[in-house]
Amino acid sequence: MSLVSEPDYVLNQRRRMIDDQLRSRGIRDERILSAMAHVPRTEFVPPGLRDQAYEDHPIPLPKGQTISQPFIVALMLQAIAPQPSEVVLEIGTGSGYLTALLAELFNRVYSIERHLELAASAEHILVQLGYTNFEIISGDGTHGLPAHAPYDAIMVSAAAPQIPPALFVQLREGGRMIIPVGPSQAQQLQRVEKKEGLRLVESLEGCRFVPLVSDSEPGLI
Ligand code: SAH
Repeated sequence: MSLVSEPDYVLNQRRRMIDDQLRSRGIRDERILSAMAHVPRTEFVPPGLRDQAYEDHPIPLPKGQTISQPFIVALMLQAIAPQPSEVVLEIGTGSGYLTALLAELFNRVYSIERHLELAASAEHILVQLGYTNFEIISGDGTHGLPAHAPYDAIMVSAAAPQIPPALFVQLREGGRMIIPVGPSQAQQLQRVEKKEGLRLVESLEGCRFVPLVSDSEPGLI
């Protein structure tokens, strides 16, 4: 799903990202690698920083937010184990880069972003790239999106001191959630599975995400 034409050097940068940053560090899922080889990350990066789009680090966005490092994105995708028939809820659209990858790997994506400006920009880029199987909602994602629940998978791109209860409720039995949990300076990326209504939690990797900001949820920032 890409309607942009790209120069060879950009395609080469993206191929090098796949080999040097992802395959070499244990990302093995070929569906994820080919989605990441396909989605033009350059389009989601602020214009002045495009030459850094395929580098091995996060990139700043407007409103003090960031696009995650490619390896962390790949790790989150591998851990959520996307299936082409499934529906995913994303919290924290940011640039829309991960939303594009989720749209490649899932049947349908609902994505919530609290900054209207970021939500509008992500929507514009995704439409330009030809994606149709997504919806971006501007609002507070800590409450989830009950209208379309339960979800097969929930991907959270901002860090919470604890798993927001509403999100776990909206996960289907057997569903998976990926979420960075912990204080603002250092968190653990967690994989949470709902098994017989209980949380099965696995810690994946140390990480540092921007905070999940909630206006109303007790215990969240
Ligand atoms: N995966 C994104 C990066 C997201 S950065 C990308 O590929 O670009 C985290 C995003 O979460 C920020 O845009 C921030 O505004 C958003 N966010 C923080 N708290 C939120 C909340 N309660 N609801 C919805 N979005 C939130």
